[in-house]
Amino acid sequence: MKILFVSAEVYPFAKRGGLADVVGSLPKILAEYGHDVRVVMPAYRSVEDAYQSGKWSITATDVRLSVPIENTTVESGVFESVIPGSEVPVYFIAKGDLLGRPEIYGYDDDAYRFSYFSRAALQLAVEALDWRPDVVHAHDWHTAPTVTWLATAGTADDRYKNIPTLFTIHNLAHQGKTDWHIFDYLQIYSHSLEEEPYGRVNFMARAIYHASKVNTVSPTYAQEITTRQGGADLDGLLRYRKSDLSGILNGLDYDVWNAAIDGKLEQNYTADTLHLRAANKAALQRMVGLPERSDVPVISMISRLDWQKGLDLMGEVVHRLLEGQAGEAQFVLLGSGEAEYEEMFAQFVRRFPDKASATLAYRADLAPLIYAGSDMFLMPSLFEPCGLGQLISMRYGCIPIVRATGGLADTVWDAQTGFVFDGYDSGAFWHAVQRAMYTYNTDPDYWQTMVRQAMQQDFSWYRSARDYERLYQEMAG
Ligand code: ADP
Repeated sequence: MKILFVSAEVYPFAKRGGLADVVGSLPKILAEYGHDVRVVMPAYRSVEDAYQSGKWSITATDVRLSVPIENTTVESGVFESVIPGSEVPVYFIAKGDLLGRPEIYGYDDDAYRFSYFSRAALQLAVEALDWRPDVVHAHDWHTAPTVTWLATAGTADDRYKNIPTLFTIHNLAHQGKTDWHIFDYLQIYSHSLEEEPYGRVNFMARAIYHASKVNTVSPTYAQEITTRQGGADLDGLLRYRKSDLSGILNGLDYDVWNAAIDGKLEQNYTADTLHLRAANKAALQRMVGLPERSDVPVISMISRLDWQKGLDLMGEVVHRLLEGQAGEAQFVLLGSGEAEYEEMFAQFVRRFPDKASATLAYRADLAPLIYAGSDMFLMPSLFEPCGLGQLISMRYGCIPIVRATGGLADTVWDAQTGFVFDGYDSGAFWHAVQRAMYTYNTDPDYWQTMVRQAMQQDFSWYRSARDYERLYQEMAG
C-alpha cells in the first residue's frame, strides 16, 4: 500500500514529544512489511541549517509547489532525505518565512503555517510526485487540515477524490482553535460543528468529524476520551465516531532504546546480565552529585514539567520519600517546564542535598543513564495518551510506579512489571510507592524477578504496526 504520513514532528529531524517518536519509527516498520511509505514535514530552521551543513544527508529537489491559497498561489520548495536507518523518504516543505523558523510551534500564525503545510504536503504527493496515496495518515491538530480539505474542497478534484484518511490523536489537549477565516485561506466552504463557537474553527474537531477513521495511542485512552471527564469538550463528537475510533499502543524504537548497545550508558547489559546494571547506578550517582551507594534505591522521574504529568501529587510524595518514611531513598529528577514545578524540585535539592538531585533541562544525553541507573521510575500522570517513559524504564530494568490512566493502564502490570494506583490523589500514590519500597527492601529476589519481567515485555513497534496495517487495509477497501 502507498501510505502518506503528514506530521509536524519527525524524529530525529524535529521533536517536542512522543509524536516525533511515533512518526520516526512506525514508517520504518511498515516499510519492512512491504509498504511504500513516505513522510512529509515542514523544513524548520533546524532542517534548513542541517541542509547547509550536510547533516542527515538532506538534499534539495527541483520540485516547486504552487499552492492555491485564498485568491492567489503561494510557492515553496522541497528538500528530501530518509528516516535514518531506513529507506523511507522524508520530504520537507521549504517555505522560509512561514515554516523555516527556529521553533516548531508557538507563533500567533501557527494555524496558517500548518494549514499551508498540510495543503502543500498533499500537493507534493499527488501532483508533484504523481504518487496518489492509498491512505493519508495525519497526526494531531497541525495536520488536521489534510483530512478536512480532502473531505471538502478536495472532493471537487478527481486527483484527490476518495483518498481515505486516518487521523491519529496523540494528545487531545491541543486542538488548534482558530478563526473562521482559515477556511477562506484554504478555499474550503463548510458548515460549523456544534463544538465550534460562532466564528471559530477547531482543527482537531474537524478532522475527527471528517476522517475515514480516527485512532489514538492506547486502547484505554481511546475509551477515556469518549467520557465527559476525559473528552476535553470533544467527547460528544468522539462518541458519535465511536464505531470508527480505536486505540493502538505506541511502540518503542528498539534500535534507539536498547540497553545492550546504548552508547550513553556506563555499562551495557541485558536481562541475563543484570548484575552489570550496578555500574550505571554508580555512574548516575556520580554524575548528579549524590553519594555513591548501592544499598539505597534511586527513584527517578524524567518528564516535561506540565500539570498533565501529575506534578501536583509529587510534592507530598517526594517529601515523604526524602524524609525516609518508607526507608532510605535517593531521588533524581530530569525535567523542564512550568516554573512552579521547577522551583519545587529546586527546593527539595536545597533541603535534602545528599538525597535529591534535579536537572532542570532537556538532556537527551542524560536520560538513558537515568533509566539504566535508577531502580524505580515515577509517572503519576493525570492523563497519559500512551506514555513512553514507562516503556523505556521497563525496557531498561527500572520499575515504573504509575497511575492507571491511558497507556499506563495498558502497559504496566501491578506487582509484576511495576506498581499501579488508581485515584488521582497523593495518598494512593504514596501507598504505591510504599509497596514498591517494601518489596525492594524486603524481597530482593522477587524484585529481580520483576525487573526481568519488565525487561522482557515486548513493546516494539512490530505488533502495533500490524494493527495500523489492518486499519489502513479496512479503509482502502
Ligand atoms: P510526552 O510525549 O507527553 O512528553 P512521553 O512519556 O510520551 O510524554 O514521552 C516523553 C519522552 O521525552 C521520553 O522519551 C522521555 O525520556 C523524554 N523526556 C522528557 N523530558 C525530558 C528531559 N527533560 N530530558 C530528556 N528527555 C526527556
